[in-house]
Amino acid sequence: MTIEQIAEKVKKNNPKADTDLVRLAYDFASEAHAGQVRKNGEPYIQHSLHTAFVLAQMKADLNTIIAGLLHDVPEDTSHTLADVEKNFGKEIAGLVEGVTKVGKIRYRGIQRYRENLRKMFLALATDIRIIMIKFSDRLHNLRTLAALPQDKQERIAKESLEIYVPIAELLGIWELKWQMEDICFKILFPEEFKKLQYKYEVERKAENNQLIQKIKKILGEELKAAGVEHEIVGRFKHLYSIYLKMQEKNYAFDEILDVFALRVLVNHISDCYKALGIIHSVWKPKAGRFKDYIALPKPNGYRSLHTTVFGPEGKSVEFQIRTEEMNDEALYGIAAHWHYKRKFQNEDRKQPKWVEEILEIQKQIKDTKDFIKNIKLDVFQHRIFVLSPKGDAFELPEGSTPVDFAYAVHTDIGNKTVGAKVNEQIATLDQELKNGDMVEIIIEKNKKGPSNSWVSFVKSKRAKEKIKQNAKKNSIFGKFIPKFSGKEKK
Ligand code: MN
Repeated sequence: MTIEQIAEKVKKNNPKADTDLVRLAYDFASEAHAGQVRKNGEPYIQHSLHTAFVLAQMKADLNTIIAGLLHDVPEDTSHTLADVEKNFGKEIAGLVEGVTKVGKIRYRGIQRYRENLRKMFLALATDIRIIMIKFSDRLHNLRTLAALPQDKQERIAKESLEIYVPIAELLGIWELKWQMEDICFKILFPEEFKKLQYKYEVERKAENNQLIQKIKKILGEELKAAGVEHEIVGRFKHLYSIYLKMQEKNYAFDEILDVFALRVLVNHISDCYKALGIIHSVWKPKAGRFKDYIALPKPNGYRSLHTTVFGPEGKSVEFQIRTEEMNDEALYGIAAHWHYKRKFQNEDRKQPKWVEEILEIQKQIKDTKDFIKNIKLDVFQHRIFVLSPKGDAFELPEGSTPVDFAYAVHTDIGNKTVGAKVNEQIATLDQELKNGDMVEIIIEKNKKGPSNSWVSFVKSKRAKEKIKQNAKKNSIFGKFIPKFSGKEKK
């Protein structure tokens, strides 16, 4: 991968884009990472370039692509976030900082933390572009995972499948979701993957590729004769989705792969209908299979024309007909909407409702700096997420302190707390924690119990109750010996 390939892609998406800035960022990053080598033997800068390239494919804006090039600089080189800000400004530095924060989240396969980790991911990503960068970064890490030891591969694959993929789905970034899933599938279920891959790639793809060539030729000529500019691409199902379907419904392989799809990309909505008419005049359509998701989009905003016909040799062939914009939206969801929103912001274009809401929030980010609160997800309101040194996520009320965190981890930890570090710096016990802080509690094994004065600053109910309970116990200490004190919930 070269910076030229990225600059070319950026220019194609937006001819007015200043690619000099992209080159400057590349120079800065490659100097910072100079001499560093990835586990697979490639120069480190290749990872930065691949991350930026995935972003360019998603038609991300210039600052996002630049932040993609710089995303590992503060964490992995001697250049700091302040250096990034000095050279590239506040906005880009903010994106890089967000990516670094989100990168601290670790899923170690412990189920009870899973939901919190997902929520925390979204809570830390104060800007949708942070998620785009982190996903592109993760995708390249997954692609180069083979160079890592087996246990590390599995941990990262599980983390991607349990934390990243559901968020990609939520935001409609399908293309990245599918790509991440197939790599994780290969690592976590190697036998099943191999079996399916053989059947699919070897048996089906070759056969279908011939069919695709045939259809391309016939349809291509017809469309050309009608003056419809177009591109036809074969669409293959993703192995992991086939696997899940087979598991879920107990289908045999052949039942799922009866039909394969061809995507016809055209320039205008009117061309979609022209192409449909041509397809139906060449091959007989199957009854009940035509869907007009352009006139009536799916609730998630998906638009396309779908039809299934009896193709060459009587084989079932599904067509999905759409414009490039519809295609980008279908593949990249919210990420794509953002591009087109900017591109067409002077036109009166109606967006699906959920997109409008999120786009509205995007506009406000500059003022509020808080993406999630504005999404109006109640779960995030007045809650923060902090990490243990191992990367487990704990949900706490806003304004919580290290003592609240200690009691959230375990009552014993709370009771024996004598000090705390926040982001590796010594902190006071009443210091207010912020979203994404990493908190380490220092305990003294022989400590008798909490200090009563803690009640005045803790925020969580749990911490308050535990401290009061202990105070009560201590006040009767000496008069009675409590029968038992092991009733606490662990
Ligand atoms: Mn990275």
